Amino acid sequence: MNIAIIGTGYVGLTTGTCLASVGHRVICVDNDEKKLEMLLEGKSPIYEPGLEELMAKSIAQGNLIFSGNTKQAIKESEMVFICVNTPPRHDGHADLKYVEKVAREIAEHLNGYKVIVDKSTVPVQTAEKVKNTIERYASEGHEFDVVSNPEFLREGTAVHDTLYPDRIVIGAESEKARNAMISLFEPLIAGKDVPVKITSVRSAELIKHGANTFLATKISFANLIAEACENAGADAYEVLDAIGLDARIGRHFLNHGIGFGGSCFPKDIKAFKKTLEVLGVDPSLVHSVESINQNAIDRFIQKIEKTLWVLDGKRIAILGLSFKPNTDDIRNSPALKIIDKLLSDGVVVSAHDPKAMDKTRELFPDIMYANSPYEAVKGCDAVVFCTEWQEYKDINLRELGEKMQTRILFDGRGVIDPKNANDNGFQYYGMGR
Ligand code: NAD
Repeated sequence: MNIAIIGTGYVGLTTGTCLASVGHRVICVDNDEKKLEMLLEGKSPIYEPGLEELMAKSIAQGNLIFSGNTKQAIKESEMVFICVNTPPRHDGHADLKYVEKVAREIAEHLNGYKVIVDKSTVPVQTAEKVKNTIERYASEGHEFDVVSNPEFLREGTAVHDTLYPDRIVIGAESEKARNAMISLFEPLIAGKDVPVKITSVRSAELIKHGANTFLATKISFANLIAEACENAGADAYEVLDAIGLDARIGRHFLNHGIGFGGSCFPKDIKAFKKTLEVLGVDPSLVHSVESINQNAIDRFIQKIEKTLWVLDGKRIAILGLSFKPNTDDIRNSPALKIIDKLLSDGVVVSAHDPKAMDKTRELFPDIMYANSPYEAVKGCDAVVFCTEWQEYKDINLRELGEKMQTRILFDGRGVIDPKNANDNGFQYYGMGR
């Protein structure tokens, strides 16, 4: 099938590349010139395992094209995917101006029946607004359907998640659109046991906000337990392990630490809270999820402040900048909040991350970026683990300690075994114990 992807970020690039790799002809459009320049050179603007290799393969096969020409992409396609960003507005609502702009562009270039697929995460009833916008601005009366196809990829495993989805949700109102969507995904689901949920458009929109809010709730619940454990003298790992053994609960994602970040959870729960308000539903559960998350990072920073006493002039190394491992995405990364606070306290910050240093440099150009964790901690009063990269789990604590002025270790993600830290002469401060 001929597909246009409008918005070639984490979601658009992964979706476009994977769909091209299974035989569709995909034109990926972006209006960010810097990004487009890289894409046209076959380079991925983001780090995602396996993505650049798959891009190269699909480009070579002639199935994957990058372009700044939205008009041509729309005209040449049977399906147009909206994959643009939906950031939070100042009041917490999702800012849908990028979605609206694409809807207007689609309206302008509609030249026959098309399926318009909303993959961006949006509040319920957005597809109806997209439909109205296209109807309002389309010059000729061409037929089209608007479908909601929420995206569930996880950064860090995005290519795998797209090629081997755990479920596909298709919110569509017409048979024609539903069939087109099933044909599109056929190469990804044929012979595999992938649940395909066909729903109404409104349900599909709510599924995405509901799923992300539930995942964020699991993390905040774990952080609530962690704080209770700290205050009661219990161990959150023991408690959460045992709670998670109940099959109805599950251990996966029941992870305490410095809380969730990233481009999705913080903005999606904000937007969902606003949606609930509009729908007349009490949003206090979601509000608590948000405030527990903020509290987790505040408690961690207080531990650093309390332990090191005067921060002004102290040297602290931050290991891990991305909001989670295997990505270079630093959007809403807890590490950045910690760096920001430490800098305002007069700390001399050094940092290391396997993939996210270039992006962090744009925000914090004046801190020291090291080529290795061992270089980052040289002469430091403390080291702070903010992301659970495998490289840090495998770190040689003896070597790390030898480079430091004082062996004080703050572990925001349960990266280090406290016994191993103590055996290597570190004072260990973790979360939830
Ligand atoms: P992103 O910011 O990485 O990418 C969005 C891209 O759209 C940018 O490159 C931007 O330049 C481009 N863009 C904006 N307006 C455009 C226009 N008019 N024409 C062409 N390009 C345009 O965002 P993302 O992380 O890929 O997320 C996209 C959407 O998918 C969001 O709604 C997000 O909530 C949702 N989502 C993201 C993830 C994730 O893990 N990142 C997962 C599931 C869903």
